[in-house]
Amino acid sequence: MSSPNDPPNSNTGGWAPNLPLTVPAPLLWPPQPLALLKYLFGFPGLFFPWLAAYAGIALGLWALLQATGSDLAHLSIGWIALLLACNEVIAIGFYGTWHYVLYGGRLQDTQFKYNASWPREQSNLFLFGKPLVSNIFWSLTSGVPIWTAYLVLTLWAQATGVIRVTSWSQAPVYCSLLMFCLVFWHAVHFYMTHRLLHWQRLYDAVHYLHHANVNPNPWTGLAMHPVEHVFYFSGVLLLWLVPATPIHVLYFVTLVALAPAEGHCGFGKVVVAGRHFTTDNYYHYLHHKFFRVNFGDSLLIPVDRWFGTFHDGIRRIKGRQ
Ligand SMILES: [Zn+2]
Ligand SMILES: [Zn+2]
Repeated sequence: MSSPNDPPNSNTGGWAPNLPLTVPAPLLWPPQPLALLKYLFGFPGLFFPWLAAYAGIALGLWALLQATGSDLAHLSIGWIALLLACNEVIAIGFYGTWHYVLYGGRLQDTQFKYNASWPREQSNLFLFGKPLVSNIFWSLTSGVPIWTAYLVLTLWAQATGVIRVTSWSQAPVYCSLLMFCLVFWHAVHFYMTHRLLHWQRLYDAVHYLHHANVNPNPWTGLAMHPVEHVFYFSGVLLLWLVPATPIHVLYFVTLVALAPAEGHCGFGKVVVAGRHFTTDNYYHYLHHKFFRVNFGDSLLIPVDRWFGTFHDGIRRIKGRQ
């Protein structure tokens, strides 16, 4: 393990973004409205393309459930199997594409790669001795079923009236605000559960599996112990407490399920057709490098700063900022 005081990438020879990692536009003072709008709605920005894509997937799944006449108030095998199959296909397609572009096909070689080395193909730290196979195995046999289980139970609870539901026609402003806020809720929930998973006993029994990946790549994202999957997807339980629609549920769980592909891709920029897509994942890359810093997943909700666990890429920043 490296020391948090090491200079960035001192032993990996890779690429690093402009350091230190700084406060993002929404947190600048005095406020800079144009920078804020660009951060939120620019391309690439916070919402485009990825959050918009997750919302599109949620709408597609909802349309499919309706078109097939799925009765969500009854836990029947038909729609549950349909949802599970869709999620398996989505996971394979989404993580597989990220993997192919950056690692399988190596379409940009090591350009903008944080660690100049490629992940090892063999390691006894992983199931079957093969990191990639192990990561895919945990993602598809534990990650997708647990993500689907949370979806099924929450959609069922909404359909039966066990939890409160609202609708876009009833409360359009509330529904829009809730959609907007869910990504920030995920950031806070991820910090809390992730910190808990670094409690030594839980780390040794559960979270070690994810951290076997010290040179992360897209399939690392959902490679977790089943207990960690239960923690990780539990953020959707917020929607058991506040009124929501099925679209909120499908969007939130899809976001939580797919965002780790980008978060672990290991590249600071992705080049597609000559265009650079900047990704915001150096933050979590530092967590995989130093282990006990940057438990959150973004700079936007500065929970790490509040709790003195923020690493700016050069040094750990202790205390409140
Ligand atoms: Zn990770
Ligand atoms: Zn961790």
